[in-house]
Amino acid sequence: MLATLRDTPSDAEIISHQLLIRGGYIRRVGAGIYAYLPLMWRVLKKINAIVKEEIDATGALETLLPQLQPAELWKKSGRWQGYTDGEGIMFHLIDRQGKELGLGPTHEEVITSLVGEIVNSYRQLPLTLYQIQSKFRDEIRPRFGLMRGREFIMKDAYSFHSDEASLQKGYASMGVAYRKIFNRCGLEALVVDADSGAIGGSASQEFMIASETGEDLILTSPDNKYSANQEKAVSVPTQEVPLAVEETSIIRTPGQSTIDKLCAENGFAPSQIVKSLVMLAKTDDGHSQPLLLCLRGDHELNEVKLVNAITSETGKTVQEITIISPKQLAEQGLSPFPFGYIGPDIDDVVLKGAKSWNNNFLRIFDSSVCSLKKFICGANQNDKHLIGATWETVGGIPIKTDIRKAKSGERCLHDPTQMLQERRGIEVGHIFQLGQKYSEALGACFTNERGLQEPLWMGCYGIGISRLAQAAIEQHHDEAGMIWPIAIAPFEAIVVIANMKDEQQKELGKKFYNQLKEAGVDALLDDRDERAGVKFKDADLIGIPWRVVVGRDSSEGKVELFQRSSRKTEKLVTEEAINTLISEITQTKPID
Ligand code: ATP
Ligand code: MG
Repeated sequence: MLATLRDTPSDAEIISHQLLIRGGYIRRVGAGIYAYLPLMWRVLKKINAIVKEEIDATGALETLLPQLQPAELWKKSGRWQGYTDGEGIMFHLIDRQGKELGLGPTHEEVITSLVGEIVNSYRQLPLTLYQIQSKFRDEIRPRFGLMRGREFIMKDAYSFHSDEASLQKGYASMGVAYRKIFNRCGLEALVVDADSGAIGGSASQEFMIASETGEDLILTSPDNKYSANQEKAVSVPTQEVPLAVEETSIIRTPGQSTIDKLCAENGFAPSQIVKSLVMLAKTDDGHSQPLLLCLRGDHELNEVKLVNAITSETGKTVQEITIISPKQLAEQGLSPFPFGYIGPDIDDVVLKGAKSWNNNFLRIFDSSVCSLKKFICGANQNDKHLIGATWETVGGIPIKTDIRKAKSGERCLHDPTQMLQERRGIEVGHIFQLGQKYSEALGACFTNERGLQEPLWMGCYGIGISRLAQAAIEQHHDEAGMIWPIAIAPFEAIVVIANMKDEQQKELGKKFYNQLKEAGVDALLDDRDERAGVKFKDADLIGIPWRVVVGRDSSEGKVELFQRSSRKTEKLVTEEAINTLISEITQTKPID
């Protein structure tokens, strides 16, 4: 079944998405919802088989968990509200009995409670279970086809251990399996340090396919010793330009409410300025906590680090962070803030009488801003800035921690001669040491060696199967179409009968195709009544690694062998062609 399109679909922004639609691999059914057509399903099954082999090899057992999940489990773990309110991504519903249910975006809750019931003793550990199935996430911005779908295929594995050392061992072996999987799929994946988030797990790494269209920003060192997702990345900040003023003074700065304008008008450097941001954090206890955040003027806020800082400070889970707007202040019955002129010492009095917010700021200052000796900052009055301020003059430093985005050009912590570089990546896998968070919350305990009850130690490990399939195309394509790595190609070879009206070609083509099948080659026969040019174009587009053209030279018993990736052609007699193909195909099947 070949149903290729000539035109580029208008809603497909990136090449891999365009090619998959044009090549008849997928069809959009709704926003972020796709049908996998037969070619795609073959690709997905090949990826699944590789994943299954490698995950099985770690000793994990395959299982299949329900996608329909009772709210109670998610309430126990404390994630129901965060996943269903506001920007929460869980599709949820109420059944005919009035019970709340969610469609699984992930399976920590289900598996933890299940394993907690099944496992009693340390003797049954370690245990790793995994599944390959569709996940549901009501993504805020579903886009790029299978890259960010609302229903997508994931391999998710969960490991259970009797202590942290065993968890670390399991985590490491999963990391090795992941490398083998991506390697066998013909993909070059970067392993980067990732945010382990508010979960408080000790380690987490992501596997990224380097690509300009990737949604993640990765920072790497040229010596390859450090690579991290920007959400997590750390660096040595560049040196600030010292501020040479003796006295503290207030200057008038009308219309200079941005760092750029303030610098342009007064000849300041952004690194001399303390930028004060006012934001609002909604926490899981239903509170809205105003935040006062300070950063150097040339730095940007890293929201992931901020969320972690708030959680470690307050012990609460953050559901949402937003910038405080004049409209919100009015709704709270508060007077307007001097936006653009706020300083680190803005008084809590400005929050007094707020209708539903906490009445004080949680003040978090970025570590690098705290090392400024003298600086410029807002004077907490419209059109005025303070020059030559010190931390003493603005009331000291409350919480000091890293909340800044590391960026390219900054020095690395492991070796200050190395400068961070930026790359973009597509996250295809994520491995995570969860620790005891879920098992504690869900009461999943085992009896340890000392005869005591202890929450299970857990790890979780995901691979975006459908995203990976599309990422492979993002990494392997040319102007003519896709170029599938052979291990995950829907077919290894395509036999094209150039002219269906030529009986000799037809006969030889069919014979050749059958011989390939008998030899174990995963082959497709293009015996459509189409012009040869159309068939070649389609074969290029759908990206089958090897093409055998049965054309004019059939009369001499010869066929043309064409390699999609190199575009090299060779005329060979049929036996030779089969032998060459078989040896090429077995050679290119990566061995681990
Ligand atoms: P992202 O940051 O891209 O939203 P995530 O960190 O939320 O992903 P995980 O919960 O770690 O995703 O899920 C495991 C894997 O599932 C990811 O590494 C990714 O490959 C894949 N994945 C996650 N969300 C989607 C999606 N909406 N569509 C397709 N694949 C996805
Ligand atoms: Mg992830």
